[in-house]
Amino acid sequence: MTGDRPPGEAATLVVVNIGQLVTGDPRVRAPGVVEDAVLAASGDRITYAGPASGLEVAIGPETIEVDAHGAAVIPGFVDAHTHLVWLGERSEEYALRAAGASYEEIAEKGGGIRSTVAATAAGTLDELITATRERARRMLRLGTTTVEIKSGYGQSLAAELRQLRAARGLGTEPDLPDVVTTYLPLHGLPDSDRAVYLEGVLGEGLAAAAPLAGFVDCFCEIGAWDVAECERLLVAAGAHGLRAKVHAEQRTHSGGSALAARVGAVSADHLDHATDGDLRGLAAAGVTGVLLPGASMVLGGPPPPGRRLLEAGVTVALATDCNPGTCWCESMPLMVSLGVATAGLAPAEALLAAPAGGAAALGLGDRGRLLPGLRCDALVLDTSRWLDVGYHLGANPVAQVIAAGRLVGP
Ligand SMILES: [Zn+2]
Repeated sequence: MTGDRPPGEAATLVVVNIGQLVTGDPRVRAPGVVEDAVLAASGDRITYAGPASGLEVAIGPETIEVDAHGAAVIPGFVDAHTHLVWLGERSEEYALRAAGASYEEIAEKGGGIRSTVAATAAGTLDELITATRERARRMLRLGTTTVEIKSGYGQSLAAELRQLRAARGLGTEPDLPDVVTTYLPLHGLPDSDRAVYLEGVLGEGLAAAAPLAGFVDCFCEIGAWDVAECERLLVAAGAHGLRAKVHAEQRTHSGGSALAARVGAVSADHLDHATDGDLRGLAAAGVTGVLLPGASMVLGGPPPPGRRLLEAGVTVALATDCNPGTCWCESMPLMVSLGVATAGLAPAEALLAAPAGGAAALGLGDRGRLLPGLRCDALVLDTSRWLDVGYHLGANPVAQVIAAGRLVGP
């Protein structure tokens, strides 16, 4: 850590000739654009983010200088909801769904989460890490500098822990996104008796997962886990220091968002079927709403309630939900586009929901905006306009990735 360097020391990195610097500064009109700007870092921390004319940091012989040539610079994306650790693939299921099969019909035929659990169990830990690393690299190239990774394809105590170990192993590798891990033991249903499995999770599962994860999560849904089961998990996890997340109101109104508010969860995710009362409850409890517009689009439900969340006073995050069944997508720029096109967000709201909203959904106060003192996670775009992130549908607008003050790609 070099964030506590004395003032006056030369910058280790400086990005000059920035046409539009998106700071995310909440004190000014979103998304907080500074024209003709400079961004400077000392170690992993931002020391200056503002107009070139006001640059206050020293440039020394060791300073790495990046010339943006008039391009826009935005905060690195924080993808706060992914299921990145899996083996196998479900292209057949994708075709079945396109032909009209429902999520539930696919699950009844042995597809769905169950098929990924089997494929993941059949591979070695090395194979699991290699497959996950490829996805994480794609994410970095698309501008994701922090990624949350859930377990959930184990459905036995040991297999869930193996997923967490694979995710944490990646977090120690250079030139990949920073990794935050979430224990998701209640996802699909286990082959064993569900009550016995739940007791195991509450006992040895939580104790073993706590050193490997920052959060606990549950799939609160008809056909998966009910509110009472999820509540037992979230309350017990709190005693182990794991903060709560909830898959809530994805395909039905299941009561997950009221549960998230009741237990003081850090986020409630999906929310496609949330009521206005649910959203008011999330706002009152300070729960961040994570929208997953890729999954919403693939599954064909109601549009994600971005506008309604903001009107209720809920902080909104956009995330990929990257998973092999309902949204194989590593692209946060595409989520920004979908946030505008399908969730009712303004472009500035969607752009900030991807980094700053994601950071809120992970309880990370040190990133998601480009302000002095925060981690220097920034993207130099290949365009002079920040609006192009959402406007250029399906493109990758990222020319250079800076993570923790270092140039890391693509
Ligand atoms: Zn999920």
